[in-house]
Amino acid sequence: MKRFKEEKTLMYYESTRSKDIKATPAEAILQGLSDDGGLFVAREIGDTKLKIEELANDDYFTLAGKVLGIFLQNEDGGFSEKEITQCVKDAYSGKFATDEITPLVKLQDAYVLELFNGPTSAFKDVALQILPHFTKVALSKTNIKEDILILTATSGDTGKAALEGFKDVDRTNICVFYPNDGVSKVQEMQMATQEGKNVAVCSINGNFDDAQSGVKEIFTDNEIKEDLKKQGILLSSANSINVGRLVPQVVYYFYAYIKLVQNGSISIGDKVNYVVPTGNFGDILAGYYAKLIGLPVGKLVCASNENNVLYNFLTTGTYDKNREFLKTISPSMDILISSNLERLLYYIADKDNGYVAELMEDLTRNGKYELKQELFAKIQSQFKAGYADDEETQQTIAKIFEKDGYLLDPHTAVAYKVLMDELSVGELADETNVVLATASPYKFSKAVMESFGDVKADVDEFEQMKQLQEKTNISIPTKLADLQNKTVLHDSVIDKEEMKAYVLAKAKEFKK
Ligand SMILES: *Cc1c(COP(=O)(O)O)cnc(C)c1O
Repeated sequence: MKRFKEEKTLMYYESTRSKDIKATPAEAILQGLSDDGGLFVAREIGDTKLKIEELANDDYFTLAGKVLGIFLQNEDGGFSEKEITQCVKDAYSGKFATDEITPLVKLQDAYVLELFNGPTSAFKDVALQILPHFTKVALSKTNIKEDILILTATSGDTGKAALEGFKDVDRTNICVFYPNDGVSKVQEMQMATQEGKNVAVCSINGNFDDAQSGVKEIFTDNEIKEDLKKQGILLSSANSINVGRLVPQVVYYFYAYIKLVQNGSISIGDKVNYVVPTGNFGDILAGYYAKLIGLPVGKLVCASNENNVLYNFLTTGTYDKNREFLKTISPSMDILISSNLERLLYYIADKDNGYVAELMEDLTRNGKYELKQELFAKIQSQFKAGYADDEETQQTIAKIFEKDGYLLDPHTAVAYKVLMDELSVGELADETNVVLATASPYKFSKAVMESFGDVKADVDEFEQMKQLQEKTNISIPTKLADLQNKTVLHDSVIDKEEMKAYVLAKAKEFKK
């Protein structure tokens, strides 16, 4: 095999379900999902390990270059070191509230890794700020002549983060659909006021499933794809199963670790546990990837809300999605099919694509699958799991504010509660624990205010934000505070049946 640098292994991606479907890093990023429905994974992950001693003085940017290099470098359709460095700079310079990008905060019982200091106040920014730059470089490495049109259905956070990431990026356009019954007022204003000459935002009469199934229909409609191709446009997705969204998340696991080394809390080689509020299993899988490439990870703790399908899987070995879908105050974790889990299964099963394909067939056919006992044991030795209901989540928000003066958002509070439960029975105690904080509390002001028992029924979300600030003295992220005064630029409301026509019309406008 060719070598990019002496010590580096070339990365090729393959489908979790078939090792005959191969892709270079660039192809994997542009395609998103493999044609057989599998996810792209690299057999070689883990062959090259990073040495903590060589990272210990890095800032976020330098560290990101090294970590991303592991996953994307490849002379044959991959990225060069220089290209990766440029992507990192374009993605993160001046775009986050702090140059630390993901600062680590010490509370009494744990460290909190803040992932929400990006332009949309959600952790998805860390990946979606850089994905468009990867896309641009990937386009230059393939013989694709068309421009990319990203289509996304969103229940709130992903849509805005994707819009901010892709706005005004060359050769890309983006179209976001959100349900008019579903997103919060703040989330709606974030999207409706989106600037950029390559963006379109549209509200759908219906719920998230309507928006989502509408987008899926467009992706599988060959006629519309042909039509767009004639106009020089290729459809793509910014969904969390894209390799380009997953690998930027590996960086902050290392960042937290070297911060702990730098402040003297741990010595190089000590193990650290990470507690992760989980939905689609992307964020926590990035922690597993970090471990595969050399980070001394103790336990990865998977925290769920009442949609605790992952908790059941990680404690029994059986995944069963045949259950009621519950709406909670941590909506970004309301999910019953955690797509990225398929990647963990691939690595746990020693890269046995056939076995993964079997499990996924069981899932499609029966809504469930059962893992072989010895593989389940392997998962149990590395993962822990817990969950919290809405009431416990709100109690945790109030309690930690009282105890530490720190304000958790509902998603992060789920994780914090799960950690507290472990600590209270003596698990993970006397170890170093990092809780990943995935959103600003101000994105969920109502649920947070309710935690303190003071919400007035008749005030709108912007008023709630203000009241929350008065109560806690913690400032509102500027971009959220300014929303109220911004001009609404997108106000189309259409039926699901009109989505195809809308996309075609927008494609024409973008081409002008
Ligand atoms: C998306 C999201 C999560 C869940 O992350 P996954 O990678 O889907 O597991 C948790 N919290 C917030 C605020 C999110 O937006």
